Amino acid sequence: MTFASPGPRVLLRRLREVMAEQEPAQQKLDRIVQLIAANMVAEVCSLYVLVDDETLELFASEGLNPQAVHRVRLAVGEGLVGVIAATAEPLNLPQAQKHPAFHYLPETGEEIYQSFLGVPVLRGGTVSGVLVVQNRQRRRYSEEEREALEIIAMVLAEFLASPEVLSLREALGAGRLRSHHLRGEGLHPGIAIGEAVLHESRIPIRRFEASDPLAERDRLHEALGRLRAELERLRRHPGLAGSGHDAILETMSMFAADAGWIRRMEDFIRLGLTAEAAVARVQSDNRARMLRQSDPYLRARLHDLDDLSWRLLRILARGNGASAPEAARKPLPEGAILFARSMGPAELLEYDHRRLAGLVLEEGARLAHVTLVARALGLPLVAGVEGATDFVESGDTVIIDGRSGEVHIRPEADLLESWRNRLALRDDVRRRFVRLKDAPAVSKDGVRFELFINAGLPADLEHLDTLGADGIGLFRTEMDFLMRRRLPRRGEQEALYRAVLKTAGERPVLFRTLDIGADKVPLFMSNAREPNPAMGWRAIRIGLDRPGLLKLQFRALLAAAAGRTLSVMFPMVADIGEFKAARAMLNEQMRLFERLRRPLPDKLRVGVMLEVPALLWQLPALLQEADFVSIGTNDLMQFVFAADRANPRTARRYDPLHPAMLRLLRDVAAAGAARKGVPVSVCGDMAGDPLEAMVLAGLGFTRLSMPPAGIGPVKAMIRSLDVGRLRSELHQWLAEPSAACSVREPAARFARAHGIDMLRL
Ligand code: PEP
Ligand code: MG
Repeated sequence: MTFASPGPRVLLRRLREVMAEQEPAQQKLDRIVQLIAANMVAEVCSLYVLVDDETLELFASEGLNPQAVHRVRLAVGEGLVGVIAATAEPLNLPQAQKHPAFHYLPETGEEIYQSFLGVPVLRGGTVSGVLVVQNRQRRRYSEEEREALEIIAMVLAEFLASPEVLSLREALGAGRLRSHHLRGEGLHPGIAIGEAVLHESRIPIRRFEASDPLAERDRLHEALGRLRAELERLRRHPGLAGSGHDAILETMSMFAADAGWIRRMEDFIRLGLTAEAAVARVQSDNRARMLRQSDPYLRARLHDLDDLSWRLLRILARGNGASAPEAARKPLPEGAILFARSMGPAELLEYDHRRLAGLVLEEGARLAHVTLVARALGLPLVAGVEGATDFVESGDTVIIDGRSGEVHIRPEADLLESWRNRLALRDDVRRRFVRLKDAPAVSKDGVRFELFINAGLPADLEHLDTLGADGIGLFRTEMDFLMRRRLPRRGEQEALYRAVLKTAGERPVLFRTLDIGADKVPLFMSNAREPNPAMGWRAIRIGLDRPGLLKLQFRALLAAAAGRTLSVMFPMVADIGEFKAARAMLNEQMRLFERLRRPLPDKLRVGVMLEVPALLWQLPALLQEADFVSIGTNDLMQFVFAADRANPRTARRYDPLHPAMLRLLRDVAAAGAARKGVPVSVCGDMAGDPLEAMVLAGLGFTRLSMPPAGIGPVKAMIRSLDVGRLRSELHQWLAEPSAACSVREPAARFARAHGIDMLRL
């Protein structure tokens, strides 16, 4: 067998012409195998299609018995074709019958053909079929012939995924892709059933064959140059892409200069492919290797290479005049469940969140800011789901449970039904919480609690009324900044704060000034690369060093709160001097308003967030200076345990119910109680978990601010709790010098023994 033309270029063009014609899909497939056979001077050309992830079916053949088409079926792993599908590797055999996997299929009449060349049809690294050529004569096919067949298979892969072939499959009753059940860590509760959307959506390749390889080579190199520049830029924006990206970007920069990778792409260009087809071809090989790779380190490296290919494809697509084909720019289906390898908070905010129903991340951590954004948006979130983006296709039906961490891709009908029922049950629980809306948060022994929500987006505001919260205990003003592509103007900031106060009515709102930096870098802000961003230039540190931003925000807040109480607090204060300096800046703006005779708030309350351990030893002065204190346990905990909250390896290493953390909180609660008139609240995420909130109640905290989903469960818990009883037990647990690394167990036992409501959504 030899090529009738110098390369597959002419054949590729012909194939694409056939695919574009107006005729039934089956006819096109028949013509395609005829063309391949004729061009490759083969007596047989057959196409097997994977019909249900376990079964291959002969879909078209030139040379084999036509009666066998759509009749012959093979299991993956069975026969030569099955082995190719199972391994995603080609087979080139001069004497097929000698191969141990050879499986004689009498209905095909293939016994007379000796030589066999089969290649996998790969799409995005996943096998969707097998393409085979056969000849009577005993011979080994050349390397060029194998490569040519692989390129043809790649073009076919796109066609097999086209709507016309999909409807042919449906008409033939071919099975659907197999279901996958994966598990990760549930980071925000809630069940979502919806349609999958891949964050980094696959980029369709419109042109495969090119007549001028030199021009394509230039395009590839130009794109590689741009890719390196893009990576360099990203490396200088560590916060943009989310925590943990530094190391990835560094590896990717190394790969971007990898001679082997570039040479493989150039080889395919030489064979007649366009630059993008060559990138996709090499990417496809890598993905197939990745899926077979069990070593987590090597898998991660192949994953990096995969990311790099996507970036390169995007650059090439942009060069073609197409806009960046990111899922965020496309209209989302209603109830979309977003799948991504990892994501920063700003990226999530780019989506139309009204259409989002859930989020699945391969990476991610409980207190990473993308998690907080997901919570703020009320999105069920499952993170740490290895391989999620490999298994899912945009458009698949998926079920996720943000509590148990389950992810079901293309679930079977029964399973879907049972989850629909579960969803309905959860609605019952929700209705129970709604009924509690107007009930006071008073414990069985008469202790009155105030339950506030943490908010940051206009969408959060509706929760105030629907949940019956007592106010907003933390308004994260930076969320609005993260959503925008430019700095919000003073008027825009003012309008948002005004709307927040209007919705809150009489209820208090604690505005936190901009808490940017670390993993919260707005898209418009260029941020110098920092070796340790969580402890770097962030929050009040930026505010004091660049007073322009903070002053602008103060003016917006003062104007919005004219005629009522304005409560403002500062994040990440480590030294009381920083608090005083920020407050002085606010006072200065007040005086400016007075001079300009602009209306002012009736009352100003200036508070501080307790997030940095150093403040613990400045408590007396702090309680003297501040009007209120709010404990940000998310950050406080990461600094107390020296464990990055955004890093999946460290985020869950220590329990918020660790005795060290609880003793510390107990002392703050006691100091706060002794200083009447300076309320001390807790606004970290632990306040929204019924068991953790119960322990906080036992420590003496009665003001809790939490993600909105926590209000119902925490209120139900409080109403069934005897605080006095818990307090004495808790103090005993903590008095134990060798107390275990968490009081979770005794706390859960206490809850069970006393019938305390631990219902969660
Ligand atoms: C905290 O650190 O606990 C907190 C509430 O602030 P954020 O999570 O926004 O950093
Ligand atoms: Mg914080």
